[in-house]
Amino acid sequence: MPKPIESITEAQPLDAYNRQLVANVHPPDWKNPEPRGRYHMVVIGAGTAGLVTAIGAAGLGARVALIERNLMGGDCLNSGCVPSKALIRAAHAAAAVRDAGQFGVRLADGEVAVDFSKLMERMRRLRAGISAHDSAKRFSSLGVDVFLGEASFTGRRAVRVGETELEFSKACIATGTRAAVPPIPGLEEAKPLTNETVFTLEELPRRLAVIGAGPIGVELAQSFARFGSEVTLLERFGGILAREDRDAAAIVEQSLRRDGVTIRFRTQAVALTEAGSDTVIRAKQERASGVHDIVADRVLVAAGRIPNVDNLGLEEAGVEYDSRTGVVVNDRLRTSNRHVYAAGDACSLYRFTHMADAMARIVIGNALFFGRSKASALKVPWCTYSDPELAHVGLNETEAEQEGIRIDTYKTDMASVDRAVLDGEAEGFVKIHCKRGTDSILGATIVGRHAGDMLSEVTLAMSAGLGLKAIAGTIHPYPTQAEAVRKAADAYQRSRLTPDLKRLLKGILRLHG
Ligand SMILES: Cc1cc2nc3c(=O)[nH]c(=O)nc-3n(C[C@H](O)[C@H](O)[C@H](O)COP(=O)(O)OP(=O)(O)OC[C@H]3O[C@@H](n4cnc5c(N)ncnc54)[C@H](O)[C@@H]3O)c2cc1C
Repeated sequence: MPKPIESITEAQPLDAYNRQLVANVHPPDWKNPEPRGRYHMVVIGAGTAGLVTAIGAAGLGARVALIERNLMGGDCLNSGCVPSKALIRAAHAAAAVRDAGQFGVRLADGEVAVDFSKLMERMRRLRAGISAHDSAKRFSSLGVDVFLGEASFTGRRAVRVGETELEFSKACIATGTRAAVPPIPGLEEAKPLTNETVFTLEELPRRLAVIGAGPIGVELAQSFARFGSEVTLLERFGGILAREDRDAAAIVEQSLRRDGVTIRFRTQAVALTEAGSDTVIRAKQERASGVHDIVADRVLVAAGRIPNVDNLGLEEAGVEYDSRTGVVVNDRLRTSNRHVYAAGDACSLYRFTHMADAMARIVIGNALFFGRSKASALKVPWCTYSDPELAHVGLNETEAEQEGIRIDTYKTDMASVDRAVLDGEAEGFVKIHCKRGTDSILGATIVGRHAGDMLSEVTLAMSAGLGLKAIAGTIHPYPTQAEAVRKAADAYQRSRLTPDLKRLLKGILRLHG
């Protein structure tokens, strides 16, 4: 049964674009199909993991049912990657206009102003367009039985959606995560924004407090600051992007500060109160005595995610789970019930769309076609789309140290790359870590305007077992920012020039006279 359109939080405001979105991914007039006997695969959740599992399995001839309680496309389409990257693009435009003076470009007349309602409308328009790809109609036409409604297991091999029971040979749990709202007194009453609601805003908050400096908090704090909000970012640790290379995170931090974001480290919100239309956040800084107040119009909570494992009947299905980390799976993504697999955010700490996609492909092979693929074999890149971007794959220095792995690190500053200098984007670096004494790549971190795009060359090399020698031997067009990766590889080549080798080369040159 579809939900009434008015009750779908992410689809507000109900303009033509959001109606188009809902018509695609939660059609109000949708009639669930009659079940077609026992399904080869029942998929719960139609975010990236569920969509890829369903369409991939159906494409290989399986009888597939896909169940979604809210909007198909999940977080990525509706309240994650897609709307956030549309906003980030608008924030880039705002910063480009602001910074145009350095290129000798200025507006001849008129003030530069950000039209927040227009940029949000642009986001809704683009999202609605993209949503056709994830639509119930498309999936249905490709042979997937799409059921709208809340799913829960009724046994080891059966799932109920509404009044209908679906039997399965295999099932995949792809129910994703939702924003964790910490139990801070007054926070719930303050109706904080989360990723579910922040993209429904129609007015720019004058003062925005962001709780949590992970990727979501950082990306949105910077964007809203560029739109003109006074942004305060609260983080309980001593730096932003805790998972990342510290030098890299420090560069992004500086950039946020330049954009006007006030960052308060080692600070935790302890209580929220309302004072007229203001929200007052009482914050406590580690080791400091007393508390201080931060006044905001809106509060955005970006303090982690919790897996959607409740009310799913996991006990009935014999599926083990942890309410913090999600569905427990083995390396082949099988749960404690051998008929049930899981993919995506619901069972992984790598909470990225591309990871949900990669895990779904593993599930199809392992669950239906006797595959033996392991999730641990995946090379997992990721990127925070701040400006500059911060992208990473494999090990970083701290992890190598913790695991006792000896590495050599090759680094290029973007300031030594002509194209980055000419683009006015010379901030950042490429760091590539290799197994000590070899060119075998164990990990890389890139900070730069196009770090996410640049990283794929390194990820490909790692996946294909190519070393830095191969990258050094690859012609990169001049001038491109990707030359930074080749320069890091050149640094490896130079490191091979031992005194003996240098002497030998000198000797050969002498033969030429
Ligand atoms: C603001 C933000 C920005 C992001 N940006 C990026 C980015 O740039 N790049 C990137 O790689 N990742 C990004 N992510 C992460 C990315 O969105 C997720 O990793 C991805 O959506 C995970 O896909 P999934 O299929 O596992 O889960 P989800 O997309 O969460 O889908 C799960 C689906 O299951 C449904 N469901 C849950 N329980 C039930 C039930 N009982 N019955 C039926 N249906 C159910 C839900 O309604 C949902 O539609 C971002 C996330 C956020 C919040």
